[in-house]
Amino acid sequence: MGGRMRSREDFRIDIRKFPVADRYHVRISKDYLVFSAGHFITYNGDVCERLHGHNYRVTAEVHGWLDENQYVVDFILLRDTLKAIVDELDHHMLLPTRHPLIRVVADDREVEATFRDRRWVFPRCDCVLLPLANTTSELLAHYIADRLARDLDQSIGKRPRQIRIEVDECFGNVAVCELGPAEST
Ligand SMILES: [Zn+2]
Repeated sequence: MGGRMRSREDFRIDIRKFPVADRYHVRISKDYLVFSAGHFITYNGDVCERLHGHNYRVTAEVHGWLDENQYVVDFILLRDTLKAIVDELDHHMLLPTRHPLIRVVADDREVEATFRDRRWVFPRCDCVLLPLANTTSELLAHYIADRLARDLDQSIGKRPRQIRIEVDECFGNVAVCELGPAEST
């Protein structure tokens, strides 16, 4: 008895003691950020698809602090960097080099992929070998995000705080990879 009821005031946080930084990101989504490519994946563990293709559409978000120019990243640099990555994949057969069941062997002329008793042989110049465990849209998004982080680092000397890549493989089937945050920016 006699104890004071705690009022809402007791729980109010003085936000001046906890400065909250504004957060920014840029987003790029263009008609030309599309790559048409062949692939096949395994699903349900060890079932292997037939070879087929998609017109993959890529959208990127780059998150970070404003620089001395008051932007997160130069839109033109982001566009050109992302388009170069997408163009490398366009009109190619995408093959995973870290798949546990699909074996990919390449020489200067040809690439041979095998899965159990199935075998595919492609001209080397028609293929892009990717260090992935399966060429799912999720891992393609991760590959693009990682490349974009590295390539932007090369251009501007720092990795973005976070990169988010969307890969739409079929008008609404969208896989998303959020890479980051970078350890120091
Ligand atoms: Zn597919």
